[in-house]
Amino acid sequence: MNLRLRERDAQTIAGIEKLRFSPLAALRGEGSYVFDEDERKILDLSSSAGAASLGYAHPRVVEAVKSAVSEMATASLLMYPNEHAVGFAEKLLAVTPGEGERKVWIGHSGSDANDTAVRAITKASGRPRVISFIGSYHGGISGSMAVSGHTSQTHTLPRPGLLLLPYPDPYRGEFSSEEVLKLLDYQFETTTPPDQVSSVFIEPIMSDGGLIVPPEGFLAALAERCQAHGILVVLDEVKVGLCRSGLMHAFEHEGLNPDVVVFGKGVGGGLPLSAVVAPAEVLDHTPAFAMETTAGNPVSCAAGCAVLDTMIEDKLAENATRVGGMLMDGFRAMADRHPMIGDVRGRGLAVGVDLVTDRETKQPVDPTVTAKIIYRAYELGAALIYVGLAGNVLELTPSLCLSEDEAREGLAVMDQAFTDVVAGKVADETVAEFMMW
Ligand code: PMP
Repeated sequence: MNLRLRERDAQTIAGIEKLRFSPLAALRGEGSYVFDEDERKILDLSSSAGAASLGYAHPRVVEAVKSAVSEMATASLLMYPNEHAVGFAEKLLAVTPGEGERKVWIGHSGSDANDTAVRAITKASGRPRVISFIGSYHGGISGSMAVSGHTSQTHTLPRPGLLLLPYPDPYRGEFSSEEVLKLLDYQFETTTPPDQVSSVFIEPIMSDGGLIVPPEGFLAALAERCQAHGILVVLDEVKVGLCRSGLMHAFEHEGLNPDVVVFGKGVGGGLPLSAVVAPAEVLDHTPAFAMETTAGNPVSCAAGCAVLDTMIEDKLAENATRVGGMLMDGFRAMADRHPMIGDVRGRGLAVGVDLVTDRETKQPVDPTVTAKIIYRAYELGAALIYVGLAGNVLELTPSLCLSEDEAREGLAVMDQAFTDVVAGKVADETVAEFMMW
């Protein structure tokens, strides 16, 4: 029997971890596109949730990986240093602002990097408590999951002593910056003594929680409050960092001076690679606290070096600002025709489109509607995903190399998808299996 990839996947790959938003099964990728089993060309407006930061099969990544895998200068950074890992760490330190002696921990994923950060920081500081935000997603393994606040993770218990604060959302405005900071002050005065708090973990743009850009000044005010108490500010740049926001780091939009920066996804250009940049006294505090045999392997690190070099040499942050601006303008113009579009927001090539039933009440659409838009877009030739605690935000995090023509193509598909879904072209049953969170 000649089963198609999707059927073989359904029979073998564990189901509950999948975030499938359409029947797309990719046989290969090239640039901003993936090709399915029928050689249909699909514009990937998500770039695999931001992991394929330079698109697929970028020549510089391919070249770096080919060369590293042929030399294969050992497979474990735990055992021996290798040039690619050390070079990658040097490059990352060079592009990441910070003071004092800093070191780089290298891992495989955003999840293990945040996990390492939280354990290293709490151990080194001797302070057990952590602050993070409702809606934040810091990882899918125990330590990083336990400092997350995403509704998809309520099946597991948070870390004891975790303080979850609301993330101020300028569109819905349930909590203003001032209210969140007031709540934090009150917590400090009462049940969360600041000298017990080691760190605050925050996404500079909350991505899985709804692609929310916080109000201007919020991150800086939060950082100031926390740093005054010796609480380390940890910027989770896993999804929106490294040029995506239009600057090298998303935290730079607020002129922040974080203590710890966490990288993942796009840093490896699609290969498993993550990193924590932190004060040496934190990361070197305890031996053997986060050993992973193949972390820092030369292949992933060679990809990381190629990604960082390409981002700088090809000015991808500027491309993100220009093409991301086009995408946001395009969606805003589309909002004239599609009353379902309540808000268009983002920075650079991290774009969110918030769908509502009514612009006055800002009531989120039922996630079935979001899923239908995505399904129809897939049928018309574009792939993307949805995020947000109400499942009503289209998220676009395409390749940082996305061209203006590709952006126009994506906008045309989305425009048609809105029209077709409103016209009833996608049935509820069709999307039932594509609503995973
Ligand atoms: N941090 C952020 C901000 C993320 O968006 C994600 C993944 N969505 C992670 C951490 C975890 O990364 P990974 O799935 O690569 O482990």
